[in-house]
Amino acid sequence: MSKVAIVTGGSRGIGAAISTALKDAGYTVAANYAGNDDAAAAFTKETGIKTYKWSVADYDACAAGIKQVEADLGPVAVLVNNAGITRDAMFHKMSPAQWKEVIDTNLTGLFNMTHPVWGGMRDRKFGRIISISSINGQKGQAGQANYSAAKAGDIGFSKALAQEGARAGITVNVIAPGYIGTEMVRAIDEKVLNERIIPQIPVGRLGEPEEIARCVVFLASEDAGFITGSTISANGGQYFS
Ligand code: NDP
Repeated sequence: MSKVAIVTGGSRGIGAAISTALKDAGYTVAANYAGNDDAAAAFTKETGIKTYKWSVADYDACAAGIKQVEADLGPVAVLVNNAGITRDAMFHKMSPAQWKEVIDTNLTGLFNMTHPVWGGMRDRKFGRIISISSINGQKGQAGQANYSAAKAGDIGFSKALAQEGARAGITVNVIAPGYIGTEMVRAIDEKVLNERIIPQIPVGRLGEPEEIARCVVFLASEDAGFITGSTISANGGQYFS
């Protein structure tokens, strides 16, 4: 059986940890990214994982990129929809562009990436689609109407697709992380982090990217074949959905 995995946004942050964990679990990994060539080159140098540049917000670019990955590495068995962006603003100040960019990447990106791999997975009677949502898609977050809508949409998308894929051996699941100690979160003012954010997390610390990556490796495995349409909340007890 093919052990090829694509991880979108797979060369930095949580995505880099996912790409590395899948490689360590025996997968041949293609790490997609959008524009940060330096980070992608450094990631390939460090891990040996091939990187591929295209935007998940562009359907044709996704179809062409996936075709290239399959020509290079073989049929895709595992797709991890991890790429995501924020364009935060309180709603009265949110521009249509801020809304659209976040929806295009964080929600439409799932359609754009999943649609081109779906037929092959159906034909081969095996597939794993794992998408990275967010605690803020489950509970909502002021200043993130766009992001919360997209991340909640990822969960609805996955529940619908889980029903369509079940008989074809395709599972479709979601991981909803809470605060994870990536560059983005560690860049938050230390006082805000220590006095306002960490006290909201019952386990008393940020999550690690590797903790999300281990959930992905489990959901990707054949052992997880009875789990579909699920959302794993990985948030240190901050929110129960
Ligand atoms: P980072 O900002 O560290 O990395 C984002 C990655 O996504 C980068 O590799 C980036 O590419 C890529 N990317 C962005 N836009 C596109 C696009 N249009 N097409 C292809 N790739 C793109 O993010 P995190 O690691 O923090 O987050 C990863 C996922 O986890 C996101 O979906 C995020 O919403 C979610 N999440 C994160 C949390 C956290 O605490 N960090 C909490 C909850 C959810 P490039 O390197 O080229 O810029």
